[in-house]
Amino acid sequence: MLKLDGIHTFYGSIHALKGVSLEVNQGEIVTLIGANGAGKSTTLMTLCGVIRPKQGTVTFNGQDITRVSTEKIVKLGVTQVPEGRMIFPRLTVIENLRMGAYLRRDPDGVKADEEKVFGLFPRLKERRGQYGGTLSGGEQQMLAIGRAIMARPSLLLLDEPSLGLAPIVVENIFDVIVNINKAGTTVLLVEQNAQMALHIAHRGYVLTTGEVHLTGTSKELLENPQVRAAYLGLE
Ligand code: ATP
Repeated sequence: MLKLDGIHTFYGSIHALKGVSLEVNQGEIVTLIGANGAGKSTTLMTLCGVIRPKQGTVTFNGQDITRVSTEKIVKLGVTQVPEGRMIFPRLTVIENLRMGAYLRRDPDGVKADEEKVFGLFPRLKERRGQYGGTLSGGEQQMLAIGRAIMARPSLLLLDEPSLGLAPIVVENIFDVIVNINKAGTTVLLVEQNAQMALHIAHRGYVLTTGEVHLTGTSKELLENPQVRAAYLGLE
């Protein structure tokens, strides 16, 4: 479904991605793990057209999207939940959700999807009239994911959904990610919380200073001594 092939991305003279290749197949949850500054967010921004790579190609459903605008990539079915959530603080929960559906022209479908989001996150239903900026961190993350679902993506990109959240909230959010995937959405999950990410993902890539250092099924990575020592804090 998604393929990155030999991607090199620079910030001025900083060589942030040094030949990243990865694949996400339809129906999978794939996780990209790595330490701070490894290039995880840069990978997401490159694949959805926010930053242009100097070299390499990005293909989505067989189409070369390396030079395609972010707006067109969204229209093709790729939606990102950015790190730090970026919800609209002065809009209510329901208004934020509707912003996610701004490209859609099927009001009945949008209404049905609002109910779907409220089914996934009952907390948001209770707070539908509350301003986004007054929600807790966990609720804002739920809203950011809910807003992305409203675009009906076929590929959902999540950038560190666990960031700064209590373990119980993270568990709830990861359960929802699994449900979204089971309902047919392919997921690329960027996470520093390798333990949680590998427990829900089918496969993973470990990024180290701009390069794919290891890849395998989640089971293989969870059993890999290097991953256990460096990312899981285990012997
Ligand atoms: P984190 O988990 O901390 O978000 P990450 O793996 O997502 O880390 P990136 O944010 O992709 O890492 O950063 C990769 C490298 O690119 C880092 O060395 C970072 O300092 C650098 N970088 C990121 N954004 C910029 C920018 N706008 N200008 C210059 N350098 C940048």
